[in-house]
Amino acid sequence: MQEQAYLIEKKRLFPWLEELQKEFQLIGPVERDGGSAFAKIQSVKDLNLNYGLTMLGPQVYLYHPEERICTIQEKGGKFDVQTLDTVPRQILFGVHSCDLHAITILDRVFLKKGMEDRNYRLWRENTLVIGFHCSHIYPQCFCASMGTGPFFEPKEGYDFLLTDLGDNYLIETLIDHPQPASPSRGREEMPPHSREAGRDRALKLLSSLNPAQATQEHFDKKSQISRELESQFQKEIDTSHLVEIILRNQYHPIWSRTADSRCLGCTNCIQVCPTCFCYNVKDRISFDLTTCERTRYKNGCLDLHFAEVHEANFRFTRMARLRQFVTHKLATWVEQFGCFGCVGCGRCMTWCPTDIDLTHIAKEIMATEKFYAARGDKKRTE
Ligand code: SF4
Ligand code: SF4
Repeated sequence: MQEQAYLIEKKRLFPWLEELQKEFQLIGPVERDGGSAFAKIQSVKDLNLNYGLTMLGPQVYLYHPEERICTIQEKGGKFDVQTLDTVPRQILFGVHSCDLHAITILDRVFLKKGMEDRNYRLWRENTLVIGFHCSHIYPQCFCASMGTGPFFEPKEGYDFLLTDLGDNYLIETLIDHPQPASPSRGREEMPPHSREAGRDRALKLLSSLNPAQATQEHFDKKSQISRELESQFQKEIDTSHLVEIILRNQYHPIWSRTADSRCLGCTNCIQVCPTCFCYNVKDRISFDLTTCERTRYKNGCLDLHFAEVHEANFRFTRMARLRQFVTHKLATWVEQFGCFGCVGCGRCMTWCPTDIDLTHIAKEIMATEKFYAARGDKKRTE
């Protein structure tokens, strides 16, 4: 894959986006109800480039909180299955590093070879992702601890990546995008890919801006900004032995103490988490039994009913559900996907009505281990 980097004057960004709006639905950060949110943009003037934490990440325009999977219709004894075949082309603009990482995680889940999710693939192929590096660190951010920010390092997942250098924007592009997954069952039934065409169009529009080539000096400035941001984090967590520590403390009292006294089981945490990918399915069947609409909706481990299998529930207690959430994010995800399931965005603790914070849980477990280590109690720390 080849990477190219350009420089454009700041005042040229919005006209560029307006050009792109002729072909794409623009989605980006706006101010809403006293906070920030990703929304469909009518006028680029509504964009807020210095936005703070949004309750829902931009991923909800790729993996929707509720979406129809298919409609099955019975006609003369035969069944006709209609799936989602076309979606509008869209741009996710202004995606911060933590959310870019979350998109790469969703790609790994939903575009896994042989197990591709049809709807996700369709949305992903019709979406241009324009990343935008943060210029502020907010109190709830801990992406630096999780290795996901403040600047985005991987060469995947985005189409353009912007950094504010003061008078100009540095624009990095990935010219040869990797296909997220190899051909798999059902792919030949998909409509022609339009992502390539959309990207070519965007590159053409970029070249019509006649941008200057970026030089090492601009990358040095980018590194300097990143270093300055790194020194501003208020929240952090030591991840060096996190996986082992979480796994060997599955019976630590913090789990039941936190869950029994504070967890409401409201599922806010999983709903706002940009990497949570679990869902449930419901069927709506017509009275005459000829039509069934199958819909999926985002759901997950904190929901009492999510682990129900026939008449049993293998995570019946709130303790088991909270432990599953934190253990998956900070430990077992690593074995499953090769990275943490937490990108350090701070959403789950921000929208938890009782301020449950997975970093506090992990830190209390670490403090207990340190206490026993100081006493020389090896059984509890190895
Ligand atoms: S948001 Fe907080 S209270 Fe609600 S389920 Fe999650 S941890 Fe429990
Ligand atoms: S677990 Fe919490 S902090 Fe981590 S990615 Fe999910 S919402 Fe963000």
